[in-house]
Amino acid sequence: MGVVVYLSGLGLGVCAHKPPTPIPDKHITTHITQKWASFTYISKEISYITNIFKRMDLTNTFHTTHTLANLLTHKDQAHDKFSLSGVYKLTCPDCHKMYVGQTGRQFSTRYKEHKTAWCNHSTTSNFAQHLIEEAHSFGPMNNIMETVHCCKKGAHLNTIEKFHIHSESI
Ligand SMILES: [Zn+2]
Repeated sequence: MGVVVYLSGLGLGVCAHKPPTPIPDKHITTHITQKWASFTYISKEISYITNIFKRMDLTNTFHTTHTLANLLTHKDQAHDKFSLSGVYKLTCPDCHKMYVGQTGRQFSTRYKEHKTAWCNHSTTSNFAQHLIEEAHSFGPMNNIMETVHCCKKGAHLNTIEKFHIHSESI
């Protein structure tokens, strides 16, 4: 059984792990308990705290919350996906031609803009232009819009959009 101690407020966890029960043999087996202190790396000032743990014979490990997945993804994707932003795909209901786009606002807002462009015969949407030129219909959001990648507005949005445009064209 391992011992886990959480120090509230600091995001620190101290774990003491015992190795699995050794298979008994003729030799004397010594039990070594390795103690680890796990820290969320916030800034270099964290070393003041980790040094205290070092003196207590604890091995320090660091982890960060700045993982690529956390940076590129919204925290709660389980909720209404159309209320998020990022890269999306629109599929023509008649000929299934696909358009990839990006928005830093809600997907639903962007969908309405495409629909308005279609209604007004505006040239602001390539997707709407296709529907007008080919006399194809405009479907409901749940049918024609797909969220490809949910992320916040940022420089990487262009990169993600280009990647999906490329992968759709091959
Ligand atoms: Zn079409």
